[in-house]
Amino acid sequence: MVQLDNSFLARALASDDRLALLAPERPACSHAELRRSAKEVVDELARLGVGRGDAVAIVMPNGPELVTILLATMSVASAAPLNPAYTEPELRFYLEDLNAKLLICPATGFEAARIVASSLEIPVMTVDFDVASACGVVSMTAPARTAPATDATAHNEAGDVVLLLHTSGTTARPKLVGLSHRNIEASMANIRSGLELGPDDTGLCVMPLFHIHGIVATVLAPLSAGGSIVCTPGFNALQFFRWADAFRPSWFSAVPTMHQAIAARAPRNADVVERLRLRFIRCSSAAMPIVTLEALERIFDCPVIEAYGMTEAAHQITSNRLPPGVRKPGSVGWSATTRVAIIDDAGRLLGNGETGEIVIAGENIHAGYVGAPEANRTAFVDGWFRTGDQGRLDEDGCLTITGRLKEIINRGGEKIAPLELDNILLRHPDIVEAIAFAAPHAQLGEDIAAAIVRTERSRLGEDEVRAYLADKVAAFKVPRTILFVDEIPKGATGKIQRLNLAKQMGLSE
Ligand code: AMP
Repeated sequence: MVQLDNSFLARALASDDRLALLAPERPACSHAELRRSAKEVVDELARLGVGRGDAVAIVMPNGPELVTILLATMSVASAAPLNPAYTEPELRFYLEDLNAKLLICPATGFEAARIVASSLEIPVMTVDFDVASACGVVSMTAPARTAPATDATAHNEAGDVVLLLHTSGTTARPKLVGLSHRNIEASMANIRSGLELGPDDTGLCVMPLFHIHGIVATVLAPLSAGGSIVCTPGFNALQFFRWADAFRPSWFSAVPTMHQAIAARAPRNADVVERLRLRFIRCSSAAMPIVTLEALERIFDCPVIEAYGMTEAAHQITSNRLPPGVRKPGSVGWSATTRVAIIDDAGRLLGNGETGEIVIAGENIHAGYVGAPEANRTAFVDGWFRTGDQGRLDEDGCLTITGRLKEIINRGGEKIAPLELDNILLRHPDIVEAIAFAAPHAQLGEDIAAAIVRTERSRLGEDEVRAYLADKVAAFKVPRTILFVDEIPKGATGKIQRLNLAKQMGLSE
């Protein structure tokens, strides 16, 4: 049996009798019930010999049960929640890269994950629940015993990696970020204090729970403040107002595209909007257009708080402030405990008002990409982690993001590592050269474009390229714009400049 005093689970669930989880058409679950159910999962993991340092891949839909599994796994092992929309080849890459010791998935469905786990000989533990019981209360079916762990009887300590997430960092290739208990607690504390979250708050969770924004800002920070969260199956513009009306949340956090969809549907739901009493709305993970921010403030009569987050920072880096504090539309606000500075190309610190690369340091910043010493040599400079984002600090220490130096594509908050697409495209027999890049998009901020050079006599068309990609990558990664060209433009040094391609190909000004 694992003792959980002072564990991640105990600290993340601060309250006792208060409600922790709410879900559409399901009975609610208190903090105490959630702790009990998660503790059973913890004991089940220990019986399997899964413990500190073991990667546990989780492929589950958004919902209260995923919250229970995350809390339990993060307490005693390293949780690696994966996008359930991933295709078989993607899941194979992630499960292998994680060196997963166990896969957790629902009792039915999710065939692709099971097939991959079985071929990699990864045991599968399944999650079941009763819709009539408190949401989030799960029953587990364990596989036959796995190999004994080094320490399956102790919970994670501050320096242990509790969460593993893939991101592309400043290069175009997916890399693994390991966040420690300490990193995540620091980010939770910054979010909790900045938003003044408390036991009376109810957050409406619409962000995916395989993304750092969803996990830390919409689940862990509010629960650790003793509050409750509404666990939805994920964002749905049509359902949003129904959920909001049923649960009357005091806040929610989302990416700009979701906010745009909400603002667009608000006039048709004026009666619901009238009944809501939101304390604030939070926005992060991509640049929020000022018009959307102003529209939301007008519609919901509450402040919109834009924050800057990143997986490697356990989410929050800076945030605008709740009134009576200042918010500066177009900026991402101030840091709480994270240190933020701006450097030039040579790594020298710049002064206020000067534009350069944003670098960060502090308790919430990861220690380095897992198993990537080469990447880590360039990712850190003088103890600062390089974000690959470009920005400037004003005289009050308020940060504005002005651009990006890294090649990742930010499709409305959803991040795509372009090299992953290049590599798949290049395996097509008709493709000689291929490069994926970000193209401007009115609603998403950016969308994916690909430039392709075909073999001499090839008649390969756009639809065929999309069909070729469809069973290899999740739908959100399939490029909307596909350009067939004779040659991919190169820079002065003969290198392709991915960040300039949209301009060079006439897709942006
Ligand atoms: P992720 O690791 O998915 O959270 O993505 C982190 C990246 O999203 C950052 O490095 C930025 O490029 C971008 N990002 C996050 N928050 C904002 C924001 N408020 N405005 C503009 N870009 C943002």
